[in-house]
Amino acid sequence: MEHSLPLNPDSVVVAGGRPARERDGAVNPPVVLSSTFVGTGPLGPGDRGYGRYANPSWEPFEEVLGELEGGTEPALLFASGLAAVSAALSLVPLGGIVVMPEHSYAGTVQQAAELAAKGLLSLRLVDITDTEQVLSALRREGVSADLLWLESPTNPMLGVADLPVLLAAAREAGILTVVDNTFCTPLVQQPLTLGADLVLHSVTKYLAGHSDVVLGALVPRTAELRSTLLHHRTIHGSIAGPWEAWLALRGIRTLAVRIERSQVTAQLLAERLEAHPAVERVRFPGLPSDPGHDRARAQLKGFGSILCIEVAAGGGRSGAENADALVTGLGLWLPATSLGGVESLIERRRRHLAEPHSVPDNLVRLSVGIENAEDLWADLERSLDALPRG
Ligand SMILES: *Cc1c(COP(=O)(O)O)cnc(C)c1O
Repeated sequence: MEHSLPLNPDSVVVAGGRPARERDGAVNPPVVLSSTFVGTGPLGPGDRGYGRYANPSWEPFEEVLGELEGGTEPALLFASGLAAVSAALSLVPLGGIVVMPEHSYAGTVQQAAELAAKGLLSLRLVDITDTEQVLSALRREGVSADLLWLESPTNPMLGVADLPVLLAAAREAGILTVVDNTFCTPLVQQPLTLGADLVLHSVTKYLAGHSDVVLGALVPRTAELRSTLLHHRTIHGSIAGPWEAWLALRGIRTLAVRIERSQVTAQLLAERLEAHPAVERVRFPGLPSDPGHDRARAQLKGFGSILCIEVAAGGGRSGAENADALVTGLGLWLPATSLGGVESLIERRRRHLAEPHSVPDNLVRLSVGIENAEDLWADLERSLDALPRG
């Protein structure tokens, strides 16, 4: 990086990954559309060679994300968050044991469960908020786990894990740790600094931030781990497109202002939703009533901008039916899956058939965007007020 001053994260997102300063040089890196690179003689680790091995369009984003996560290594971009999940799970030895939150991202659990069904690994699903349960799953009947998968706050239950305690215990036992940091972003939580080996992102969400790309990333603690994962990416071909990488860099420039604003709005909406009679329960770690509040306060800078509500039954309709009516009745909020974009999205999670049944069927997830907070509230309030009661 050009700058020599230690920068705060909200400057890194803007200043990182720029081309070298030279007269008439471009301020932004180019999109390099080339499937191959000129060279002669033996290809070394520093050579680009071929478009599946390397592309200069990936590097600025990888540099920025690596620096934001507070480690020493650049990130690695992948074709999607789940391609990054697949690379991370490839670190588990054949027949190895993986401890994973039952309420991880559904695609992550599904991928691990399919590997387990083939006998390639063995899966121990845990309630990640129950520290004792996780610690005992790391070492059960004298057999130690190989990988601890962490996601906190969880999707969509927003359970908060005691990351410092779990990461320290895994490290002591020599168990590899991965933290899916998609919900928080490195501006809110930095798992590497808490002792994690690997941080995972669905770049699709906050980092790119505009619901216009699908991408993933891994940020490794060590150069050795990075080289293993780079080899996996190269040989499995789970690479990012140059345009997508450029869009992600373009998106991350505004990450700090987007997060700052959406977190404030999420807090306001959570407090108002908690007081609305059509809402049975609000899950948001920023509320003092939330079971994850104290942990989140100790571990996070802010509380994120995802919140979940459980909609009350009423008027002879179930909570799930009222939840569907709430979503359908909205005008500004977009009814769609995914999260972390500038636009506010809302969905009843159990519309996904793969969603675990331990997620209440009246649970609606809200991804708070950057629109005017009062407009977002007015839309929600109008649709909630229209629900039948009693
Ligand atoms: C979306 C998401 C993923 C999967 O990422 P894709 O980019 O959709 O493949 C993984 N983890 C979390 C927490 C997510 O929200």
